[in-house]
Amino acid sequence: MDTTLYNLHLRAGQICGKDKTCAGKKPFDEEDAAQRAANAHNRWEGRRHDVEPYPCAFCEQWHIGRIMPIAELEAFITEKSELPPNTKSFDAILAPIRQGFAESGMSEEEALDIFTNELKVIRANRRYDKENKA
Ligand SMILES: [Zn+2]
Repeated sequence: MDTTLYNLHLRAGQICGKDKTCAGKKPFDEEDAAQRAANAHNRWEGRRHDVEPYPCAFCEQWHIGRIMPIAELEAFITEKSELPPNTKSFDAILAPIRQGFAESGMSEEEALDIFTNELKVIRANRRYDKENKA
């Protein structure tokens, strides 16, 4: 198994948790042994789906499970991953502003004036930065 696929399996396993990816599953020391077990399973007529070996993020051995193509692993990880640590959600950015506005007793008009002026300052600063970067 190549390194990319190996790491994707480990990451997806960590997201799914030990109960689903490790607990109660037969461990294999080597990928080869897991592959032989998977091949035997895949020849069995009563199987529900084909299986493949995957590295376990918890016991550091191999198990066999439903075949997960790279695209499916990547989509799963992207869907379940949180935003990078320094990316705040828009709601998180606005929360202190909303609270400040609620506590200020300001009218909407007064607040709008302040925001409009602040936006002008922000835009002017951005323009300045852009012009002085080149
Ligand atoms: Zn395991």
